[in-house]
Amino acid sequence: MAVSHLARSIRESATLVLNERAAELAAHGQPVIHLGGGEPKNKVPLAAIVSSAARLTSGDVKYVPTDGTIALKQAIIRYTEENYGRLVAPDNVIVSSGAKQSIYNVLVTIVDPQDEIVILSPYWVSYPEMVRMVYGQPVIVTPEDGGFVPRLDEVEEAFGSYTKAVVVNSPNNPSGAVYPSQLIEGLVGLCEERGVHLIMDDIYHRLVFDGVRPPSAYAFTERDVDESMLIVVNGVSKLYGMTGFRVGWTIAPRELVEVMKNVQAQTTSCPAAVSMAAAEGALTGVQSTVENLRLGIQNLRDVMLQELRAFEGVHVTAPQGTFYCLPDFRAYSHDSEELSRFLLDKALVVTVPGKEFGAEGHLRLSYCGSTKDVTEGVQRMRWALDPTAPNEIYIGDRRLVRDWL
Ligand code: PMP
Repeated sequence: MAVSHLARSIRESATLVLNERAAELAAHGQPVIHLGGGEPKNKVPLAAIVSSAARLTSGDVKYVPTDGTIALKQAIIRYTEENYGRLVAPDNVIVSSGAKQSIYNVLVTIVDPQDEIVILSPYWVSYPEMVRMVYGQPVIVTPEDGGFVPRLDEVEEAFGSYTKAVVVNSPNNPSGAVYPSQLIEGLVGLCEERGVHLIMDDIYHRLVFDGVRPPSAYAFTERDVDESMLIVVNGVSKLYGMTGFRVGWTIAPRELVEVMKNVQAQTTSCPAAVSMAAAEGALTGVQSTVENLRLGIQNLRDVMLQELRAFEGVHVTAPQGTFYCLPDFRAYSHDSEELSRFLLDKALVVTVPGKEFGAEGHLRLSYCGSTKDVTEGVQRMRWALDPTAPNEIYIGDRRLVRDWL
């Protein structure tokens, strides 16, 4: 088979392998609990359904402008003004088929072979792979203190003459950390000084807890959007629970948007019209759906923390946003892939190995399912690992006895 060196070098997703194994177990009637999910369970907002249904029933579902429909771009402009305090022009906005495609298109647009992209660890699995897919070099910054937020000087140390951009994801997948305002302010200043792009992946920006508010990076620059080094990516997947619609967008200087448009025109032509109608409905409809989702997830976060705190030897930093946390399981294993496999086999719980995110010895646990899943999922993990937990458990209607500790 003719598989290119590049394609061969793209890593298999451990998450997908685990998901396949979990699906196989579930298909055989095993009561698997999924703590590996990346999407909220809520129903799509009604306004999104109505708007996309109207588009569908019109029968007019054709190619639309490459950078997105005017109506959706207007909704994004209003969203940006309300949430970021910046009035951007239609030429600063390009809609893509999910924030993932937005980020990939940004990278295709700015990276020459061997250029370096600085990624802050722990990081979303797709960043380093996407950088490699455009023949760039990922440069990972790992916080020296073992925490989830790097210092500005650690980021600066990673800068070299080939640095093209820094990717920041706050609230962060996988840790749930929200970077402090001073760090974002420092990064904006550093990137402006060095002529490096600052890509803000803001996909979780309103899923935050305890009154924490992630700052808008635009607050720290005097520059006009067209002169700014800022590239802001967002979308409807997480905030509105609309992962299946595949709508994300980028706000950037118009010079970049112009090139991103060419990239998109030659690959996917345009995002799907029905999906864009749905996103427009979500952005312009009642926003209480986002607040309800946020509150529900904050409660689930509390349940998750309570369960994890009963877990001997496990250290967890309370997440301030997203629907993930990244507890430290090094008291039990330094090999997170092996630990994850063990938990799936013994306790029928899906977790994601921290190794995937540059955080070996940790597991990423999601709390976007039901309260029962969170409670029972962590209890099963405790049973499998923690010698202080009772050694009998019911999984489904089977009584299991732990005989390996
Ligand atoms: N960025 C991060 C950090 C994510 O976690 C995800 C989804 N897992 C995305 C981007 C992509 O979102 P979308 O569904 O809009 O492609």
